[in-house]
Amino acid sequence: MPAETTHAKRRVHVVGAGPVGLMLTALLQATGTFSIRLYEKRHEYTRTRMVKLDSYLVADSVESYCIDHIDGENIEAVFDRTELGEGLVFRRSIPPDLKTHLRSWTLGFCPVNAIERSLSDLIDVRASNSVERIAAAVTAEKAMAMLKPEDILIDCTGSNSLLRDHVVPPVGEVVGGGANTFKIRLEYALVVTFLYSQTYICDEYCKYYKNAENNRYKFIPAVHRTYYDQSVSHVTGIVKISAEEFEAMPPRFDGQWLRDNFPGAAQSMDRFIQKIKHETGGEILGELEIIRIPLDLYRARNATSRKWCEVGLTEHPFAGSSVFLAGDSAIGSPYFQSISLGFECAMFLAGLLRQSDQPPRETFNRYENYIHKQWLRVYMRSKMIKHNKDLFESLDNTFALLEKLHIY
Ligand SMILES: Cc1cc2nc3c(=O)[nH]c(=O)nc-3n(C[C@H](O)[C@H](O)[C@H](O)COP(=O)(O)OP(=O)(O)OC[C@H]3O[C@@H](n4cnc5c(N)ncnc54)[C@H](O)[C@@H]3O)c2cc1C
Repeated sequence: MPAETTHAKRRVHVVGAGPVGLMLTALLQATGTFSIRLYEKRHEYTRTRMVKLDSYLVADSVESYCIDHIDGENIEAVFDRTELGEGLVFRRSIPPDLKTHLRSWTLGFCPVNAIERSLSDLIDVRASNSVERIAAAVTAEKAMAMLKPEDILIDCTGSNSLLRDHVVPPVGEVVGGGANTFKIRLEYALVVTFLYSQTYICDEYCKYYKNAENNRYKFIPAVHRTYYDQSVSHVTGIVKISAEEFEAMPPRFDGQWLRDNFPGAAQSMDRFIQKIKHETGGEILGELEIIRIPLDLYRARNATSRKWCEVGLTEHPFAGSSVFLAGDSAIGSPYFQSISLGFECAMFLAGLLRQSDQPPRETFNRYENYIHKQWLRVYMRSKMIKHNKDLFESLDNTFALLEKLHIY
């Protein structure tokens, strides 16, 4: 008899079918040893923003994994070679249907919803071990009520995580309230996205010279968010704004709204775009799309329910089951390639859960340790990028620049 018909499969609840929840589901589904329920509140995948996945996701050696010139050294400083080696072994075991997608997403840019749809379709067309899809907005109470002892629950609900503040026992009478979240607000920003009809190549010199007359607001395109589809470039730039300006803006608007309401910020953006046009002779295709967001760097202090298990005898559902946070639920950074990070954590977690003979405490500790190391990596990189950005914004003011330098 095949193993799966002689043993009851362990139940896994994946809450949130964004990129990370879908990736975890696809990985666990392929093992054939879990009975998976995937919960999602959205009816369709509509996020069209362009993202690029990092090449380290498909790296086949430690050297190629550490290739990024900013991140590579941090990785080597934080992780042991054996840990990196384990990651490579797991990546080699990823089923071919999934590996083909991963390879293609690391080659160029694609919309988030294309990644979501491809993963979702892949889960649905696989003939064996079907996944039960549940269209519902899960609440923390529902999540607790649906758990049976020994079940696994993985929270993939994104930055406003459903369970981040529930995976640890309350301190005194206080439940939730951000106690399990460590957050640094780096700044507030406008994220401006547009299509441009010519190839436009951006680097640090370009960012500097095209901002020469922008004193108050600098328009800073993210180099790796400029991509080319034949001669069309997708450009994403950010403009730092104040907390008051953030409060006074709607979440989403177009270029004309910005010109009418915040002419100073709009001028810097328009001046930058004008210079691109002057150099390359192209045009903006369609509308500028602008959102305003807080740029937060955060982590869950505990990414598992291990603290509930340590409490011992209690009737709380999390004490007898295993709860994990993955993707933006666990760690988030505005400057980091968060989907790639979430995918990596999903791969690690799927690898751990595959080891069915491992005691839960061991699984918790290994996942916590891994997430903590990923956090160190993200923290170092994000702080460095923020610091460089602050320096860049003061380049024409020697004293302001010196005040931001702490040398020795
Ligand atoms: C403007 C912008 C640009 C970005 N650019 C990039 C980029 O270039 N590269 C990159 O790697 N990342 C980028 N990111 C970050 C990236 O989008 C996120 O890291 C990624 O989407 C996180 O995936 P996730 O699956 O963890 O969470 P999410 O994508 O947030 O998915 C969470 C899912 O859970 C569902 N859900 C939430 N609550 C519940 C509930 N209670 N019940 C049921 N379902 C629920 C949601 O509907 C959603 O489908 C960008 C983010 C922003 C805002």
